[in-house]
Amino acid sequence: MNIKESIVTKNPCYTCGRTITVQGLMIHSVGCPQPKASVFFNNWNKSSANVCVHAVLQADGTVLQLLPWNRRGWHCGSGSKGSGNNTHIGVETTEPDTIKYTGGSSFKDFNPAATKDFVTKTYKTAVELFAYLCKKYNLNPEKDGVIISHSEGHKRGIASNHGDVEHIWNKYGLTMAQFRKDIKKAMNGSTAAQAPDKKQETTTGTGGYLVKITAGILNVRKGPGTSYPVSTQVHAGEVYTIVGEEMNGSTKWGKLKSGAGYISLGYTKKV
Ligand SMILES: [Zn+2]
Repeated sequence: MNIKESIVTKNPCYTCGRTITVQGLMIHSVGCPQPKASVFFNNWNKSSANVCVHAVLQADGTVLQLLPWNRRGWHCGSGSKGSGNNTHIGVETTEPDTIKYTGGSSFKDFNPAATKDFVTKTYKTAVELFAYLCKKYNLNPEKDGVIISHSEGHKRGIASNHGDVEHIWNKYGLTMAQFRKDIKKAMNGSTAAQAPDKKQETTTGTGGYLVKITAGILNVRKGPGTSYPVSTQVHAGEVYTIVGEEMNGSTKWGKLKSGAGYISLGYTKKV
């Protein structure tokens, strides 16, 4: 995820200066085959625009932030039917140009594999952004009414009658229930795949040994040297299994058993 600030300083949602106390986050989908977030910036950065969301997400991980997070947006309708604007941050996911709307929230999919790939990637961006915002505003993503879609907002009586995001997510196996779980997981930092194996390691097994991290934050690199890219970070007090050693100049690097990469053993202590 890469948050890029691109504030719509001409939009009334920005210029009127009204703020909210953030109580939740609402996910939308733009409802047109438009993968580029900048198009929405251009549409909404006008004094004549009467709507605006806080951010628009792309499949490449870009989050285009259009409003300060605590400004009152206008993303889920007007009047009492749109009262979600007073409590929830609104975020749109973009949609791929491989679909064509045929009326309402129905669409034809010309390239199901590409569409699924796009939707899955924007979902991932949304999980990362929502985890970030839940931490920022101290929100529990699994508490009732905190993380909702536009259509769930309608059912709760706080948003206009739209079918997003389920109209597109459900076709590709994604659900709001899973979304809330995935946000919670992301907040706990267990996006598992390349995360190193910490603490639960209690034995060195065959040919390994344990070290404790002594630096506050230590980079894990893809190879044994500072010229290799950083794959993740480990923290003071955590314990890892080292399964191999390599010298680079005068620095000894240890290979993590998890496969996450190498750490400089000068910032560790054998345990
Ligand atoms: Zn919506």
